[in-house]
Amino acid sequence: MKNIAVIGSGTMGNGIAHTFAQFGNKVILVDISQEALDRGIATISKNLDRQVAKGIISEEEKVSTLANIMGITAIDSRLADIDLVVEAASENFEIKKSVFQQLDTVCKPSCILASNTSSISITKIAAATKRPSKVIGMHFMNPVPLMKLVEIINGYSTSKDVTDAIVAATTQLNKIPVVANDYPGFVANKILMPMINEAIITLHEGVAGVAEIDTIMKLGMAHPMGPLQLADFIGLDVCLSILKVLQDGFGNPKYAPSPLLVNMVTAGHLGIKSKIGFYDYSAGTKELVVAPLFKG
Ligand code: NAD
Repeated sequence: MKNIAVIGSGTMGNGIAHTFAQFGNKVILVDISQEALDRGIATISKNLDRQVAKGIISEEEKVSTLANIMGITAIDSRLADIDLVVEAASENFEIKKSVFQQLDTVCKPSCILASNTSSISITKIAAATKRPSKVIGMHFMNPVPLMKLVEIINGYSTSKDVTDAIVAATTQLNKIPVVANDYPGFVANKILMPMINEAIITLHEGVAGVAEIDTIMKLGMAHPMGPLQLADFIGLDVCLSILKVLQDGFGNPKYAPSPLLVNMVTAGHLGIKSKIGFYDYSAGTKELVVAPLFKG
């Protein structure tokens, strides 16, 4: 697969475009928002600079990676010759359904349509198309250029050839594919999100503060970061959407999102992307500063 399209240039989409382009693929990056597209391409450039500074890639590789990416703001006939689309638009079924219906119309019949969804059923997304055997989950981890794992999710109708092709494509990106079945939250988020939700409930119930919860989980469990910092990193809106999918999918109240999480998302406190969540990122430094609302 050489011609790739990535839909959505947010947190995940720009990382996915970056990674495919770095490994020599031509990438069309699509976002409905010109502003989001510009921000995504600026992020790719900044992250490539960091890779150059660390000696991971050369200056020439940075230039060729950027040259491999073309940004556009609509799904149209420019995607006619694409071999693989990775959709990384917002975590909302109606948005994904509309994107997949458009892709099904403009992409050639052999094109594989993958979704980076964190939790939405691949079978349900596939049913919105006329090519369900060619629809699959390709769940990259954040930050995409650094994280090795890609959780590959087989929908009910995904063909073995398609799974094999996606496993091979993942390996070519120097990443490790692990195949799972379609189930609410798949493996990663079925386990991770209840932990994040429980950390937010623990904070809301006043058991401990933000820094204390994160430090206990980080040092006690040897996690690279605490669950509240991780929630800010993922995006609180994304966490809320995933918990709603788990709640709906299992019909079990244990997945009900914390009211504090709901309030924070309603207030626009989404974590790093809005510069405020459990921590305050407005200073732009690496130091972790607990958000004013959670101090004292
Ligand atoms: P984000 O909010 O940062 O970015 C989403 C982007 O999609 C935005 O730029 C938005 O303008 C764009 N978009 C919305 N509708 C569109 C459309 N119709 N066509 C084209 N672009 C459209 O979200 P994100 O965190 O990058 O998440 C994207 C997907 O990746 C979601 O399905 C999410 O569940 C999944 N995911 C997220 C993480 C994470 O850590 N954030 C990790 C793994 C998977």
